[in-house]
Amino acid sequence: MAVFLNLKKELKDDQFIEKDFSVSFNSLSLPEEYSSDKKNVDVHLYIIKEKEGYLVSLTINSNIKLECGRCLEPFNMDLNETSSIFLSKKKLDGDSELHEEDLIVEYLEDEEHFNLSELLREEILVQTPMKPLCDENCKGLCPVCGGNKNSKQCGCEVESDENLSPFAKLRTLLEKK
Ligand SMILES: [Zn+2]
Ligand SMILES: [Zn+2]
Repeated sequence: MAVFLNLKKELKDDQFIEKDFSVSFNSLSLPEEYSSDKKNVDVHLYIIKEKEGYLVSLTINSNIKLECGRCLEPFNMDLNETSSIFLSKKKLDGDSELHEEDLIVEYLEDEEHFNLSELLREEILVQTPMKPLCDENCKGLCPVCGGNKNSKQCGCEVESDENLSPFAKLRTLLEKK
């Protein structure tokens, strides 16, 4: 079930509110390849009422299971970023616009039925790296035998780039001198 908020009602008497939500991961209709160890996505919201809409600061707390782009092993990536989104009551030219300071602007169709689940879904997609790495120093797969170089030293002979680098050439020249 998607989670909807009635922003008009929530912020009726207040200029801003701070709230925590827990939304079931499976309810977010993420692409099939998405899965998580945690059943829920925890989200901390800070909403400020403005003249033409609502300014939302959203911090997601969850993790997703990804496949490493180098060694192809699955790993868990923590999601804990904060994003700022302006929900505009005025219709925008495009679907969404990017304003100064990376503020995302989205059109708020109905302030009494704001779809929090949809926003979470988009945020998780945006926060997923194009080429996820299990570790910055992941050694990847051996181009010769295909073994995972993080878990074992296969000892295959791989022609080193060093032989071709300009520095290597320079070194050879200096050695000849
Ligand atoms: Zn890896
Ligand atoms: Zn190998």
